[in-house]
Amino acid sequence: MASSRDQQRLFDTDAPAWEVDAAAERCVAEVVLFQGPTEPFSYEVPAKLRERLTPGCRVKVPLGRGNRLVDAWCVQIETKAISRVLKPICEVVDEKRLLSPAMLQLTRWLADRYLCPWAQVLQAVIPAGVRGAAGTRLTTFLSVPTEVAARLTTLKLPPKQLAALKHLAHSPVELTPQALADAAGCTLAPIVALRRKSLVRSSSRRVRQTELENEVPPRAENLQLNERQRQALDAILASLRASRYRQLLLHGVTGSGKTEVYMQAIQEVVSYGRQAIVLVPEISLTPQTKSRFRARFDSVAVLHSHLSDVERHWHWERIAAGEIQVVVGARSAVFAPTPHLGLIVIDEEHETSFKQDSAPRYHAREVARYRAETEQVPLVLGSATPALESWHAALTGEAELIELPDRVMNLPMPAVQTIDLRLSAGRRLDRGAISRQLYLAMRDTLNDGGQVILLLNRRGFSTHIQCPSCGHAVRCPRCEIDLTYHKQDVTAICHHCDFTQPAPNHCEKCNFAGIRYTGIGTQRLEAEVRARFAGHTCLRMDTDTMKKPGSHEAALDKFRDGEIDILLGTQMIAKGLDFPNVMLVGVVNADMALHLPDFRAAERTFQLVTQVAGRTGRGARGGRVLVQTFEPDNP
Ligand code: ADP
Ligand code: ZN
Repeated sequence: MASSRDQQRLFDTDAPAWEVDAAAERCVAEVVLFQGPTEPFSYEVPAKLRERLTPGCRVKVPLGRGNRLVDAWCVQIETKAISRVLKPICEVVDEKRLLSPAMLQLTRWLADRYLCPWAQVLQAVIPAGVRGAAGTRLTTFLSVPTEVAARLTTLKLPPKQLAALKHLAHSPVELTPQALADAAGCTLAPIVALRRKSLVRSSSRRVRQTELENEVPPRAENLQLNERQRQALDAILASLRASRYRQLLLHGVTGSGKTEVYMQAIQEVVSYGRQAIVLVPEISLTPQTKSRFRARFDSVAVLHSHLSDVERHWHWERIAAGEIQVVVGARSAVFAPTPHLGLIVIDEEHETSFKQDSAPRYHAREVARYRAETEQVPLVLGSATPALESWHAALTGEAELIELPDRVMNLPMPAVQTIDLRLSAGRRLDRGAISRQLYLAMRDTLNDGGQVILLLNRRGFSTHIQCPSCGHAVRCPRCEIDLTYHKQDVTAICHHCDFTQPAPNHCEKCNFAGIRYTGIGTQRLEAEVRARFAGHTCLRMDTDTMKKPGSHEAALDKFRDGEIDILLGTQMIAKGLDFPNVMLVGVVNADMALHLPDFRAAERTFQLVTQVAGRTGRGARGGRVLVQTFEPDNP
């Protein structure tokens, strides 16, 4: 890895202080190879490529004794005097650079920060659809050189060729061979002849095959902010107007109107002709979010993981061209090539999905902070349950803390109550997952026409398979964690690596036939709910039932329309939903996440319970939250 001084040098655009002998000066490009050594290499830029090559383009360069052509990124170009003989760059692959100098610098920083080869970072930051120019085709365009146009009347040509040539000469734009043939009413043959005689000039470039449609939803007016929201907006606007980097932590309970504040701050950014990036967890990239932003801004790009390469490329180009005002996207949208960034917002900033778990293992919050600092723009972090790091930053003054403690329209926060599951609390052992207290609360809620959400952060039917005779527990042979029983396909699955085997009906060690399935997952909870609330509709939402694209949204629509009385599922149901009729939230087992071998287990559990609690009490009739736990005293 280069030291920070090297890095400095790499991006120094000022001419060197010392004057050099012009005769020895050469145009030198630094390139990083796609594969192989990670240090940059120097190559000479031949005169014929000098016009076309800029840093941020891909090139082909000769490597090794056999001068095998390999792919590389050009990361710097400099005219300097050097005595060494350099090999020349052979080819420039891109017509336009894929990275601006600022983005190149960002990728260099990522490589250093996350100990990842620079080329690998570049590969990760530029979407495959952009690298492959998805949705475009190399197309030939014809025009008539001026000297030919000048002697058009004196040329002796067969009639069809002359007609085609005249047509092209009078066309205000360049034409493809086919377009010219169509316009002149001839075949391609006369055009081929004209090209052979060098009477027409041809050039080729990539053009988009189809423009993607971009429907415009009805516009919505800004909401009238309440006092707290106004203060929050003012704090963000003050930083915006100072044009300086500043970190602001917007600590606001769910439903406190944070999104409204972001949108009004972004309007200021857009009025400067700048762009904003809004990062949200992937799960929040719903049509609901999309239409909320689309209703306020003319050009919004929503980047989610289901985009095709063609769509992704199309969005990227429009963002790079400055045509997009607001980029809303998951983690990787932090690399959106906005030419004049004005603001970055990270909503639900505590979410784990902002951390990438393959190289480069970046955290979008850290990248956003670096980008905001280098581009001198504010960074707004929003959450009801900030990450401890962000909270600490606010306590030390590194971030400015803005509080939105109340819900909009003075809706009360739901009452949260724990249900002590311990036997010592004088209860009899409940057979299922739902305690008597929770059962009664559910019954009352449903009788009142309210809806219920049940959170159980464990999918599958049974979470533990063990032989009561010899004690053997069925584990993943690769990960050594318990396999989970999935009833539908009668399989035992590892939730870490997806290892799957048929569910055993006898012990594989001692052959005992009474192997036991214990531990409750969402499938079993669903069976229990269906049995105990037979007259009500119930829907399970976890990654097993929500595999098809769009199924998540379809399920939420059903719930919103009241077709479903009880929604149960994993953390998937904890986030972002806003349904006024939900009057009860039950957390089936709050302890489960508390004992994961993770130093953030307590923090995560608090966040999850708080998030799911926020799903209720959104309507006029209020709501309440019951948390079942064996550790009611846990902080
Ligand atoms: P958060 O992002 O903090 O969860 P939202 O911005 O989504 O909060 O606001 C929650 C709901 O309240 C939304 O339906 C939104 O339209 C509404 N809302 C937000 N601000 C106001 C306001 N000032 N007046 C009335 N309704 C508002
Ligand atoms: Zn495994």
